[in-house]
Amino acid sequence: MRKRRGMAAFLSTLALLSMTVAATSATAAQPQRDIYEVLGTATPQLRTAVARTGVDMVESTEESSIVIATAEKAKELRALGFTVERRGSVPSNDVATSAITDFPPGDQAYHTYAETTAELQQTQSSFPALAKLTSVGNSYQGRALNMIKISDNVATDENEPEVLFTCNQHAREHLTTEMCLRIVKRFTSLYATDANIKKMVDTHEIYVIPNVNPDGSEYDISGGTYHMWRKNRQGSGTDTNRNWGYKWGCCGGSSGSPSSETYRGPSAFSAPESKAVADFVNGRVVGGVQQIKTHIDFHTYSELVLWPFGWTYNNTAPGMTQAEYDKFAALGKQMAATNGYTPEQSSDLYITDGAVNDWMWGTHKILSYTFEMYPKGSNPGFYPPGSVIPAQTARNDKAVDLIINAAV
Ligand SMILES: [Zn+2]
Repeated sequence: MRKRRGMAAFLSTLALLSMTVAATSATAAQPQRDIYEVLGTATPQLRTAVARTGVDMVESTEESSIVIATAEKAKELRALGFTVERRGSVPSNDVATSAITDFPPGDQAYHTYAETTAELQQTQSSFPALAKLTSVGNSYQGRALNMIKISDNVATDENEPEVLFTCNQHAREHLTTEMCLRIVKRFTSLYATDANIKKMVDTHEIYVIPNVNPDGSEYDISGGTYHMWRKNRQGSGTDTNRNWGYKWGCCGGSSGSPSSETYRGPSAFSAPESKAVADFVNGRVVGGVQQIKTHIDFHTYSELVLWPFGWTYNNTAPGMTQAEYDKFAALGKQMAATNGYTPEQSSDLYITDGAVNDWMWGTHKILSYTFEMYPKGSNPGFYPPGSVIPAQTARNDKAVDLIINAAV
């Protein structure tokens, strides 16, 4: 997630964190991380300077940014001239010893990886003509990266424009998995009764990947407590959303340090998860034409609709004409008007490189957006209660319809 506006209720966030994220008792394999407020981050350039240190940027306003960082990184930020104030601590990321595998009490409406897989299997058996469950590959720890295709004549590769939805690149952003599951449910269970749904399904091939990073999300809930985990579980973790092979590591928008929250990995597509999704997308070039036309990668939080490029502050660049930029902005604003999110170019927040949207567009000319979902601010941040799932996923129904109908 990343955010600029409305940093409200910070103290209650800390209270919430300490309530929902209990410390584990295992021995420390990683340095302690704390929550810091970095003052004076008014511009994309200043925010980029903060992000460039490799800290975990969880939220930004015009006045300050909230980061999760080690004491060493806080010192580095102070050396850059920022005023850095410690606001709280986060638990250690050691593997919990408890065997609890579900979400904590109050959040059990969220789907674990096993529950997600079961739901996709159930969908396929309930709607065999509409839904086909496959996998694009395996995660680092060997979990299948489930993908469900939804279309009429689903077993056939028809000549129809294709749309891709991906969720859960970042481990702790569990609401996104629920977003993908809602898409699956809507476009199957309403097919028989909703003429608009039927038309979209009949004229498109819709691909949904609910868990791009299942190792990370399972780890994040392991032991019955949240771990505030972002990356995959390869070594000390790669940020898969800095690992995509378009201008990978080009521009100070990721970190080369394995301990960093934005570690880009030793090479582009070194993370099996981003590579598997990319291989799938590469494989959708049929007769020299990329079949996937539009894409949303769901994240939390901040309520934003973001479009490429992330690697440059400029609107236009090699690979992005003004007309193309205008198309991105127009559809981005149109979608944002339906869900109340704030639309902007990704780099209006800060520079990122190796992120999925830049690769999708830069390599394949796919109209590719990032949605930063509910909430707007750090309360409740990454861990809203399960009770918000229906409303906060339904909130994107119209935007989902727009991105599908934009695939022509
Ligand atoms: Zn994210």
